[in-house]
Amino acid sequence: MRVVDALTLSPKRRALLKPGEFHADPNGNRHRLPRFFYEIETWAEAKQIKLTAHFFLSELMSVDCREARAIFRQAPQYIPCAVSVLARYLEEFRARVDAPVCVSVNGGYRSPAHARNLNRATPHQWAAAADIYRVGENWLDSQKTIERYAKIAESIGPEVHVKPFGHGAGENDDHLHIDLGYLTLIPGNCNEDEPPNP
Ligand SMILES: [Zn+2]
Repeated sequence: MRVVDALTLSPKRRALLKPGEFHADPNGNRHRLPRFFYEIETWAEAKQIKLTAHFFLSELMSVDCREARAIFRQAPQYIPCAVSVLARYLEEFRARVDAPVCVSVNGGYRSPAHARNLNRATPHQWAAAADIYRVGENWLDSQKTIERYAKIAESIGPEVHVKPFGHGAGENDDHLHIDLGYLTLIPGNCNEDEPPNP
């Protein structure tokens, strides 16, 4: 996959991806949005790219109608490089639960322009979070199943964070949210100078 410095993209794209800009999370902590993205020429290509044995790139970048039109209707598409690490963790989770793991539409990467988290940081904008709605035959829509799988996800390591079951802010009652914090991946051949060196 080709890596691009999003600071070199068109002003229109930069306005949507906001590379390197700070976003505050619900607690007021500020985080720097990713700058280096994989460039995906077509949706067909995303469906072909296998990040791990069981996770295709397309699964982690499918979005709903609340996403900015240019993000998912206009080629090429961009996704933060951390998505490859996220897939590795999902693969580890899949191995531990020993069953297929289903990520919801819009449950992987969401751009900073997505209506759901407009102007509010979430690891989804780093491609470092996934919303899982089903594991094998089990739908994650009850306290029992969500807590059961949350425990397994947390057993992977201290860097894995899950949102608790509940109906309030920062809680979920119809899926399991897993994230790796504001994980940023900068491939070794990238230049972090500012202004960018195209
Ligand atoms: Zn989530």
